[in-house]
Amino acid sequence: MHQHQDNTKKEQYNLNKLQKRLRRNVGEAIADYNMIEEGDRIMVCLSGGKDSYTMLEILRNLQQSAPVSFSLVAVNLDQKQPGFPEHILPEYLDKLGVEYKIVEENTYAIVKDKIPEGKTTCSLCSRLRRGILYRTATELGCTKIALGHHRDDILQTLFLNMFYGGKMKGMPPKLMSDDGKHIVIRPLAYCREKDIERFAIAREYPIIPCNLCGSQPNLQRQVIGDMLRDWDKRYPGRIETLFSAMQDIVPSHMADTSLFDFKGIQHGSEVVDGGDLAFDREPVPLRPAGWQPEDDEDAPVRLDVMQIR
Ligand code: SF4
Repeated sequence: MHQHQDNTKKEQYNLNKLQKRLRRNVGEAIADYNMIEEGDRIMVCLSGGKDSYTMLEILRNLQQSAPVSFSLVAVNLDQKQPGFPEHILPEYLDKLGVEYKIVEENTYAIVKDKIPEGKTTCSLCSRLRRGILYRTATELGCTKIALGHHRDDILQTLFLNMFYGGKMKGMPPKLMSDDGKHIVIRPLAYCREKDIERFAIAREYPIIPCNLCGSQPNLQRQVIGDMLRDWDKRYPGRIETLFSAMQDIVPSHMADTSLFDFKGIQHGSEVVDGGDLAFDREPVPLRPAGWQPEDDEDAPVRLDVMQIR
């Protein structure tokens, strides 16, 4: 009995710690990229996966104490995939008392019709989904669209683009949509996937499986995900360092002529960004940049971020 109580207490303690960390990560990302402003009406895209449930909960949480006032409307797109449990999200959202809209569009039939059997369907499917979500945001009068991608999704995209696309291009925390009409934000940009995973399990979200369409998962993305998870285990801090690197780019020390005027370097030019350190032994920090200990809930808090304590 005592043992059971102890375990429950411990679980509660861990859940609180996780929630605090996620809240801090989200608050910092919102502040760094000015994701949310006074009066915003934010469409929270809810797929029924762990990331989107977590995003909704943390945003609702921050809403209580944020220095700006904003409203949220959860949106799920029912793509009419066979076996989609359509009752789960309305029940969950009704219980929470969140404003929401379920949009029904049979993109599944379109994709099945257009893409030959055995070919990957994700690119057409997500293009269709994007269009519908943008249209819905306009209909609902939303000023921002929030997507549930997290730090590890962002890094995976960077490596996918580097390995297969020959581009250093990740996934921005905030961007203007292709049609130039919507601002898309990713409030979980600083959140680690493993925190979200643990949080989602502890909160017992009614997860809707994402493979209902029968499409095979993207193999390349999976390989990169495994590589990053392996690095994380073997070299703690490496993932944090990589993400910090995305926030600290030195164009004069890369090789993109559109980002830096290499041709313009002449005798008499100024030394830029430390000049050439290639022949020096650069000090390697003992602790990787951006590294945070697992138990970092007591880490100093930035004053300009949305924060609940
Ligand atoms: S996995 Fe299925 S539902 Fe998801 S994007 Fe690909 S085709 Fe669409």
